[in-house]
Amino acid sequence: MLKTTTIVVGAGHCGLAMSRCLAAQSIDHVVLERGEVAHTWRTQRWDSLKLLTPNWMTRLPGYTYRGDDPDGYLTASETAQLITDYAKETAAPVRANTTVTSVRPVERGYLVQTDQDTWHARAVVSATGGSAVARVPALQHGVPAGITTLTPTEYRNPSELPDGGVLVVGASASGIQIAGEVYRSGRPVTLAVGEHVRMPRTYRGKDILWWMDATGLLNERYDEVPDLIRARSLPSMQLVGSPERKTVDLNALRRIGVRLVGRLAGIRDGVAQFSGSLANVSLLADLKLGRLLDTIDTWATKAGREGLDPPQRFAPTQVPTPVRLALDLRSGEIQTIIWATGFRPDLSWLQAPIFDRKGRVRHDGGVTASPGLYLMGMPFLRRRKSTLIDGAAADAADLTDHLVRNLDAT
Ligand SMILES: Cc1cc2nc3c(=O)[nH]c(=O)nc-3n(C[C@H](O)[C@H](O)[C@H](O)COP(=O)(O)OP(=O)(O)OC[C@H]3O[C@@H](n4cnc5c(N)ncnc54)[C@H](O)[C@@H]3O)c2cc1C
Repeated sequence: MLKTTTIVVGAGHCGLAMSRCLAAQSIDHVVLERGEVAHTWRTQRWDSLKLLTPNWMTRLPGYTYRGDDPDGYLTASETAQLITDYAKETAAPVRANTTVTSVRPVERGYLVQTDQDTWHARAVVSATGGSAVARVPALQHGVPAGITTLTPTEYRNPSELPDGGVLVVGASASGIQIAGEVYRSGRPVTLAVGEHVRMPRTYRGKDILWWMDATGLLNERYDEVPDLIRARSLPSMQLVGSPERKTVDLNALRRIGVRLVGRLAGIRDGVAQFSGSLANVSLLADLKLGRLLDTIDTWATKAGREGLDPPQRFAPTQVPTPVRLALDLRSGEIQTIIWATGFRPDLSWLQAPIFDRKGRVRHDGGVTASPGLYLMGMPFLRRRKSTLIDGAAADAADLTDHLVRNLDAT
């Protein structure tokens, strides 16, 4: 059996940030990765995807963006390259092509079984991704045979889709990006819209994420928010990274011809049924955006920022009337359904008593109830930005401090 002090599972940016912080504290460790470094950026992203975070936000422990386009947005392959370069630069002790199949508590630590070797470690950090698997609602079973169904991790580009209409379910970052791209390929697109987070790409002349960073909103801590469960389940922001810095919200999609319907509530006898809540969820998203812009304006005034464009307010979301409530999936109108209904972690290999009755992992800012077992990269793990690349540095530093204290105490 191989031995080390700490095993980090997963060599995405979170695992590598953790590795860098452990190395800085001289903690002996290895990073076990089932594929190559940045595996998910190589294998689970569609061809045209660009980060929705500007390049200057691509910060990791000991690394800041060095290119000549700080306000641009990296492609998925550029992101994979950046993470790979970071692994080399930090000399992270990555063992690639090693899948962790189980981790269970044993005396003085954990037994880590992989498809290569067995390890004993005193501490384990899971950095296998908060968005490891696409979520697909149970109503998928009602989809009639003959319709192609895909998740965003399977979708690559419109040319791989059959001709004909496409139903995109979900209007968060993935859904709006894919809906726009598929529509531009000449296919009619229907977008089923549930709760969503409307965002302009720029506000008062600056990227909206610049504002969220400057005001401290992205740094908000998990132990400061009034409703953490809700904060952890919020949909992703409707944002796209593009050279023109364009806003892609429901109004923009409707303008180009995407048909908006409410949340997909059920599929009965092959007929998709949409909720009548489109106007309400859109109004709610408009109100929340208004509140965010109020917060930003108040901050800008207090901070005495000069040289900014004047405050703006955006047109309310235009909802079609009447909105369609049913769509017969057997009619041939829809040939493809894309489930852009979110992502979830896959911690099925963790055999420790850290899950609730619904199978959700319980943790306090990444610290689980199993001493020496930690999580990285989960939604709002310790801060609002925890799932963003920019969130890993602070979380990894905090968890490393906890891990070191725990090692010293045991
Ligand atoms: C579509 C999409 C777009 C996103 N866009 C942005 C963006 O614009 N900006 C931003 O900051 N963030 C973005 N994110 C969020 C986030 O940065 C990514 O999800 C990121 O990939 C998460 O990093 P991670 O290190 O937590 O996990 P991952 O990058 O998923 O890394 C996890 C690693 O663990 C490995 N692994 C999994 N299971 C095992 C196992 N059992 N044994 C060994 N290895 C294992 C995987 O192969 C993988 O390499 C996006 C996410 C998605 C899904």
